[in-house]
Amino acid sequence: MTFRDDGDISGGDVSAGGSGGGGGGFGGFGGGGGGFPTGAILGGGGIGTVVIALIIWGASSFLGGGSPSGSGQQVGSGAGSAGQQQLQQQLDACKTGADANKSTACRIKATTVSLNTVWPQLLKGYTKPVGTVIMPSGAQSVNTACGVASADTGPFYCPADKKAYFQLDFMDKVIGQMGGSNKPFSQEYIVAHEFGHHVQNLLGDIKKSQQSAQGAESGSVRVELQADCYAGVWAAHADKGANPLLKPLTKGDIQEAIQTAKAIGDDTIQTNAGRNVNPESWTHGSSAERVKWFSTGYQSGDPNKCDTFSGSI
Ligand SMILES: [Zn+2]
Repeated sequence: MTFRDDGDISGGDVSAGGSGGGGGGFGGFGGGGGGFPTGAILGGGGIGTVVIALIIWGASSFLGGGSPSGSGQQVGSGAGSAGQQQLQQQLDACKTGADANKSTACRIKATTVSLNTVWPQLLKGYTKPVGTVIMPSGAQSVNTACGVASADTGPFYCPADKKAYFQLDFMDKVIGQMGGSNKPFSQEYIVAHEFGHHVQNLLGDIKKSQQSAQGAESGSVRVELQADCYAGVWAAHADKGANPLLKPLTKGDIQEAIQTAKAIGDDTIQTNAGRNVNPESWTHGSSAERVKWFSTGYQSGDPNKCDTFSGSI
């Protein structure tokens, strides 16, 4: 119950997306199973070719343990599109904060409205993402300007099409299975993290993720921790101002986000997968770092405090 019941969320630009399996008709690359496309080669704007990857939420696959997603398993054809239609209708009907308090889909939409209200106050020249896409339960993959992503990718942002992507199953279930929280404010933190990547895209910092992709001090880790910090900055402002969409956040709300930040630290993910903790392969930062940077953003409310690029993290 984090949103004010009478808040207006009708202006949110969120759509249902994803296909039910079989790859149905998308051009592009890498969608035929065997996992997730790590990058896409796209023509750059005149300076040659740049490599743009999806900026993903955590490990490359969340369902783990023999899960077939991305390896060619089919669901009944049409299941995805029926689910998609139903979800689109549901999203179109999300009008108020009361709706956002009742359903995850409306909550994601409401969070994007809040983010698009808060960020213009903090960043001159802020422009909204081109859209936000939610994959319904049963969808197997989604086509993006960064390639075809399978449903088990987890939430991600594609810099090339400036859209954030979420899966209902991830928000409702998978994050809880990972030891995170599926409570409302934790879900909102996840949305805010992906919008953090959008801010980085506007500022040009997101490239640093490509320049050094792995390791405890890598550009990738620094980009991810900054997105956590930006999520905290949003949280600091989301319940304030003239007409905030959120009710005053409680310690419990913040704790939900922190539980999730802890659960998706690279060290925790490696430990939970029964592997040795290996900082050289990190892409998102340790649990402690993720908590630290979310908290830095939340406590300061100042995006300038989110400089994860200079100095130690
Ligand atoms: Zn991220």
